[in-house]
Formats: sequence, C-alpha cells, structure tokens
Amino acid sequence: MANPLYRNDSPGQLPQSWYVASTDIPPERPPLYGHTTADVCIIGAGFTGLSAARHLAAKGLDVVVLDAHRVGFGASGRNGGQVCSGYNTPQRALAKTYGTNHAAQLWALTEEAKDDIRMLCLAEVPEANYRAGVAEAATRPGEVADMHRNAEYLQETYGYDKISALGRDAVRGLIKTNDYFGGHLDMGAGHLHPLRFVFGMARLAEAAGARIFERAEVHHIVHGDPAELRTIKGRVKANHVILAGNGYLPNIARAVTAKILPVNSFIAATEPLGDLAATVLTQDIAVSDSKFVLNYYRMSEDKRLLFGGRPSYQIAFPKDIAPMLHDRMIAMFPQLAGVRVDYAWGGTLGITTSRLPAVQRVAPNVVSASGFSGHGVALSGLAGKIMAEAIAGQAGRFDTLQALNVPSFPGGPALRAPILRLAMTWYAMRDRLGL
Ligand SMILES: Cc1cc2nc3c(=O)[nH]c(=O)nc-3n(C[C@H](O)[C@H](O)[C@H](O)COP(=O)(O)OP(=O)(O)OC[C@H]3O[C@@H](n4cnc5c(N)ncnc54)[C@H](O)[C@@H]3O)c2cc1C
Repeated sequence: MANPLYRNDSPGQLPQSWYVASTDIPPERPPLYGHTTADVCIIGAGFTGLSAARHLAAKGLDVVVLDAHRVGFGASGRNGGQVCSGYNTPQRALAKTYGTNHAAQLWALTEEAKDDIRMLCLAEVPEANYRAGVAEAATRPGEVADMHRNAEYLQETYGYDKISALGRDAVRGLIKTNDYFGGHLDMGAGHLHPLRFVFGMARLAEAAGARIFERAEVHHIVHGDPAELRTIKGRVKANHVILAGNGYLPNIARAVTAKILPVNSFIAATEPLGDLAATVLTQDIAVSDSKFVLNYYRMSEDKRLLFGGRPSYQIAFPKDIAPMLHDRMIAMFPQLAGVRVDYAWGGTLGITTSRLPAVQRVAPNVVSASGFSGHGVALSGLAGKIMAEAIAGQAGRFDTLQALNVPSFPGGPALRAPILRLAMTWYAMRDRLGL
C-alpha cells in the first residue's frame, strides 16, 4: 500500500488551503538529529499528539513529539472545523450496545472534549475563532423522526438542553436549500479554524516544556523498555510511546493499521460571498447532512463557503477536486452558480469498522488513539488527554474508551479498501436515487 504520508503531499509542505492562506505560519522546527531520550515520545503533531504532549509536559514529564512533516500537516490542519457532540454512533444506540452506565460515561467524555476546546479558544487560542452551532439535516423525509428521537434522547437522558429539533420549515429557514426535510440544531457544538487551533496547541505544548521536531518521520519502532524510535537522521529512546498518526500512520504498527481505514475527504473554499452568504446560511452555524456520501459546510470569517464532502477510499486524491465540489455545491445551492472556487484541498482521516475510536494499548508501554471517524476535532484532543492520564498511572478513562468494540477490517490492509469502495459506490447510488 502506498504510504499515506507522501501519496498526495510534498515533504514538509502544508496543503494549499484557505486555512493556510488565512494563518501566520510559524517558522519550521528543526528535524531530529542524533540520539536523544525522553519519558514519552509521541508520533504525530496533530490534535491527538499535541494534546497528549501538553498534558504530559504539564505533569513534568520530558516529552518529544515527532512529525514526518509539520505541525498540523495532517487532518488536524485541514478539516471541516466542526466540533461535534458525541460519537459517530447515536447515544441511543450506544446505550443499547454498552448499557446506560457506560454510554453515560462516554457521553460525559465527549461533553468534556467540547468544553476543553471552548475553554482553550476562550483563554489561550482566540484566533481559532470558535463559534457555536452545528445543524444536522435530513436529506430524506423518513430520517427526520429518527433524528428528532436522538435529540429527545439527549434532552431526557442527559438533560442536554442545547439541542433542538428542526422541522422542514425551520431547517429551510436556516439553510437555504430545498434538499432538507428536518433535522436538529446543536448550540453546544460549534466550529473553528482548525489550523490556527492546532498551531495554538503546539505553542501551548512547547510552553509546557514539550520538544517538537518536524520532518522527522518515524520509520521503525524497536519495542522494549525503553522503546527506540528511529528516524532517518536520529533516534529517541523513550519509556513510553504514543501513536497519534491516525489516517497518516504508515504500516509501522500493525495493531493500529489493522483497525483503521485511511479515507480521503475534500473541501472547497469559494470566493468571499458578501451578501450572497445570507442566501445560503441565515446563521453562522456549521452543517452536515445525512447523505451517506455526506456534505458538510460553513462560512469562513470572510464569508467564503467552505464546502466539504465526497469521501474517497482511493489513496490518491482525484485531480478535479474543485470542479467536483463546485458541482455538488451548485446542485444544493443553485443561487451560487457563477461563484468561483478559490481553494480546494483534500486530507486523510481514519475510520473504523464500528465508527467508534480505536483506543488501545498495543504494547505494555505503547498506547494509540485513532479512527475518530469524522468526530476527531472534538474527540482527538480528549483522547490525547486520556492517554496522558494512562501514562501517568490513571487508566480508568483510557479503559472506558478501550472497551469500545472496534474490530479489525476484514481482509487486512490489502482488501479493506476495495471492499469499502464497492460498498461506497452502492451507497452513493442510493444517495443519487434518493432511496
Ligand atoms: C477534509 C477533512 C475534513 C474533516 N472534517 C472534520 C470535521 O469537520 N469535524 C471532525 O470532528 N473531524 C473532521 N475530520 C477528522 C479530523 O480532522 C481528525 O479526526 C483529527 O484531526 C485527527 O487528529 P490526529 O491528531 O489524530 O491526526 P492528524 O491530524 O491526521 O495528525 C497525524 C500526524 O501524524 C503524522 N505522522 C503519521 N505517521 C507518522 C510517522 N511515522 N512519523 C512521524 N509523524 C507521523 C502526520 O504527519 C500527521 O501530521 C476531517 C478530516 C478531513 C481530512
């Protein structure tokens, strides 16, 4: 399988996204030269790795973070910015599978995940420009009742009063397309500028004492106590290792890659829309819809529509990202015909078979969290925090997440993508036919 770290990007380069164009990019950090030691070595400088680094360094541990490219190179610096509630499986379903107590613990964790982000944005990273409000919209009339039941369940079971059901008129009042039949609006969820946020997390991790090295791909781990992590130019001996490479992690840890399918998703940023913006969204919220091949979108601070979707299981990005997303956007919002796309980019995330995160201890001193399945903006930072707790000797919350059922993909790395591509084609056809 092609290495996801290099298949679509040049070494050390951030993508040509609107996020990069609207951010002050910090100077490059040095690569790792020679040998060093650490209490904890973390692979990956995205939300997961940097959150773990900050929490561990704040506990006084000596932390080294290695990224093959740059801080924020991965999904963390290029995503849709939606800070969603819960998991990619409704709480109602989790309660059936895991029982009400475990489900309540899982819900409390995701509430904490969102709180942490809001607090960070308020106090430390205001440039991430957090804004409240995420709507989920039904593209088939038959889905509305189920969405409303999910919202009611959160209200009744957890006293979560920030979510409200939307009927057909209400959803069309918020989102100016005829494609939607209802849904819900969650004001406890929100959206932010992910690249500025991940840079802020790196700044905070370094301020707490973590050392970050860029252009430092770990190509081999020698397991043991200590473990040794090898890059082309250097080595780190560490008592503990955290794997935080998510969809980009090459095959250096089979226990992780067996459970994760790297999936690509794409985003286009239009030219600034000015007054046209209000003909798409009447509030400054983010939206995702219920199509299997889902669309997700929101306005940037300069009123560009950031329109994402069209996941693909091919490791290589298509060449026509901008026209492909432009067509999908116009199909939903014909009022934007003639609007230019200024930026278009893709990124790789990790999904799991059960769409629940894969949090695991892959060796006595190696932990991993990945496969957030489209809910990683909120969940990944929390997973990093919980891995830090586990390394510091408090494994209770780590065990709560580790207990989630995340089977390996059938067929292993060679077959999982073709099998999913077939399934995907079928579901995309259902979307088009409205079945
Ligand atoms: C286009 C797109 C849109 C998305 N939209 C949303 C959204 O709106 N809401 C949401 O909740 N989630 C969304 N996601 C998912 C979310 O971005 C991820 O779940 C989250 O960012 C994962 O963070 P991470 O730190 O685990 O991984 P990443 O941010 O991917 O970071 C992994 C890092 O590990 C490094 N790495 C990997 N292997 C090695 C190695 N061997 N040596 C050194 N470094 C290595 C990579 O260079 C990379 O920087 C989206 C993802 C994409 C791609």
